[in-house]
Order: sequence, then structure tokens, then C-alpha cells
Amino acid sequence: MLSIDGVVKFFGEHQVLRGISLDVQEHQVVTVIGSSGSGKSTLMRCVNLLEVIDDGVITLDGQDITDPRVDPDQVRRRIGVVFQAYNLFPHMSVLDNITLAPRVVHGVPKDQALARAHELLARVGLADKADEYPDRLSGGQQQRAAIVRALATEPRLLLLDEITSALDPELVGDVLRLVRELAERGMTILMATHEMGFARQVADHVCFLDQGAVLEQGPPEQVLADPTQPRTREFLARVI
Ligand code: ATP
Ligand code: MG
Repeated sequence: MLSIDGVVKFFGEHQVLRGISLDVQEHQVVTVIGSSGSGKSTLMRCVNLLEVIDDGVITLDGQDITDPRVDPDQVRRRIGVVFQAYNLFPHMSVLDNITLAPRVVHGVPKDQALARAHELLARVGLADKADEYPDRLSGGQQQRAAIVRALATEPRLLLLDEITSALDPELVGDVLRLVRELAERGMTILMATHEMGFARQVADHVCFLDQGAVLEQGPPEQVLADPTQPRTREFLARVI
């Protein structure tokens, strides 16, 4: 469904992505792992067209989305994104955060958008937080609300960039449980994470980035348990 093919990205002289190729099939969970600075976020930003790539092609549902004639907004409407932190608009209630894009971008009638938001909030255990402002929620609740907001537009693909790394350890579990549930429901997910246990249990495919290149990729039982590259082994020894 998503195909990243030979993607190259420079920031000035610095080559941050060195020909990345990675496929995500429909209903798959693909995790991207690697050290800080290896290019995980940049790769996700390229998929969401927040960065213009210097070479390669990215296709989503068969469409070359990196073609300069493509309207980025039209692509982003099909992708839900959650970052590490600060996903919610602080001056809006949780409910307004969630219904904004469906109503304004997708033209969903207000009562329909509200009904769906309430249903999703209930599903993630936040039914009683609909009218709160984000700063009254815990970090874990904020991230679950951010996931709900990303889901509210019924995206084809969910991009999750280290969504638990700013959380206190005891809040991580709830957020990962929600991601696992989405995966079980068939959501297609591309996720940068440092949570190796989660990657091992939930991912269909793991991609190890090292200095902007894919050093190794494959099923988690191979990449995480029996890596072929010494650098992958070093990385895993450090993070686990
Ligand atoms: P982390 O695990 O810390 O989130 P990451 O794998 O997501 O790291 P990126 O944020 O993609 O890494 O950064 C990859 C490299 O690109 C880093 O060397 C970073 O300094 C550089 N970089 C990222 N964004 C920019 C930018 N806007 N301008 C210049 N350099 C950038
Ligand atoms: Mg990052």
C-alpha cells in the first residue's frame, strides 16, 4: 500500500536518507528502529510530504505522491499522524481537537463528526475527557486523544513517530495497548519506536536504520532476535 523506493534526502550538505527502500502492505504494522539521528523522523516526514525528497519515489495506493504535481493536502488527508508530543491544539477542547479536521477538511456534518468522536473516545477510555483542554490530561491520555484525532478522518495509513518516548514509563502501556488494538483491527501502521518489546510482539516487519540507510529489515523474529549485521546487534544490546 505504501512503497518507499530509493528515497534520498539532504539537509544542505548533510545526506540524512541514503536511498531508503521499504514497503508497507495493507493491514501491516511496520516499525522503524535505529539510533537517534538515524533518520526515522525524517523518513516519516517525507511520507507525509512535510519534506521534499531529493531522489526516489514514494507511492501510496499506487499513486506517486512525490510527483511535484500532486497536492500535498490531498495526500495528507489519507494519512493520520501522531508525533512524540504536542499533538493537540492547546486552546481547544479534546472534542474540538478531534472533530476539527473531519468537519473542516473532510466536510463531515457536525453531528456525525461529534458522534464518531464520542465513539472513539469511549473506545480508548477517554469518554469523560471530551470537554477537557489538553493540559488537563496526563501525557498518556493526551497521546491517546491524539491517536483518536488521527483516526477521526479514517486514514488509510497511520504514521506514529515515537509516540511513547516522552511519556512516564507507567503511561506507555496504555498507549501501546491502543496501538496494538488498532493493529488487530487491521489498521496499516508505520511506526518509529524505541519499544523493542512492542516491535517484537506487534510488528509484522522491522526496519533498522543506521546513519540514513536501511542496514537490515525483515520479520521481528529475525531482525530483533537473530540479526545478521554487527551494528544491529550493538544497537539492540544498548536498547534492550
Ligand atoms: P531520534 O531518534 O532522535 O528522533 P531520528 O532517527 O528521528 O532521531 P531525524 O530526526 O530523522 O532522526 O534526524 C536525522 C538527521 O537529520 C539528524 O542528523 C538531524 O540532525 C538531521 N535533521 C533533521 N531535521 C533537520 C532539519 N530540518 N534541518 C537540518 N538537519 C536536520
Ligand atoms: Mg525522531
